Amino acid sequence: TLKGKTAIITGSNSGIGLGVARELARAGANVVLNSFTDRPEDHKLAEDLGKEFGVVARYIKADMSSAEECRALVEQAGICDILVNNAGIQYVSPIDKFPADKWNAIIAINLSSAFHTTAAALPMMREAGWGRIVNIASAHGLTASPYKSAYVAAKHGVVGLTKVTALETAEEPITCNAICPGYVLTPLVEAQIPDQMKTHNMGREEVIKKVMLERQPSREFATVEQLGGTAVFLCSDAAAQITGTTISVDGGWTAL
Ligand code: NAD
Repeated sequence: TLKGKTAIITGSNSGIGLGVARELARAGANVVLNSFTDRPEDHKLAEDLGKEFGVVARYIKADMSSAEECRALVEQAGICDILVNNAGIQYVSPIDKFPADKWNAIIAINLSSAFHTTAAALPMMREAGWGRIVNIASAHGLTASPYKSAYVAAKHGVVGLTKVTALETAEEPITCNAICPGYVLTPLVEAQIPDQMKTHNMGREEVIKKVMLERQPSREFATVEQLGGTAVFLCSDAAAQITGTTISVDGGWTAL
């Protein structure tokens, strides 16, 4: 059980981040949700989650493209036993047409944010004498696809940062690992299905299995609950000697 621990999950008002926050809360952790917006529904999400699982849940607005705001998120939370670096965006274009501002934004949000939050969180973990850092990388942290230069570079960077963080904390009761999801069924992905059905003139099941999950041998999406469960495992005592590595949750993608 993670009762009494506090987890900060970046980019957690939707998708995988929210799924991970829910599983950590189910396991008893207090949670800090985050995104770059500051809407009533963001705070409501935290309030509802707190009630559902009987934990303390807060929402803190911070833009993960800003180094200062990344560090301020951790400072404002005031305590960080578990840090889940999840915020991420995607942009697809050939390298010679890839807009420089998109490259910079992806590197900042998908990679540099994890450096800044980790830097701010480590002193707190050392003070507490325990810590878990879980970086949400991707199958694209281990393999590549054309037209995703910034994303693939950032996610490979996250895997590298994970290893360095693990080595710097190796003799302490702190671990750092990366989860590498394949294709996950999030609201964003769900929303693409109707378009893909039209483009390929296929039914829902066919477009999922033949087009969207072409690289995922299981032909099943991973779920946010499965990713949350993996994060909870990495925070457990059983995982105390697991550090500096990656866990793929990708239906066999990286075995191909
Ligand atoms: P999503 O768009 O549902 O979630 C992204 C989250 O990041 C949202 O909460 C969003 O508000 C937040 N975010 C975006 N920009 C931000 C910023 N500047 N500051 C703070 N928060 C910001 O997408 P998702 O699929 O849940 O992705 C979550 C993570 O999982 C990402 O790092 C993504 O690369 C990774 N991932 C997703 C998949 C997939 O198939 N969905 C696969 C592999 C890895």
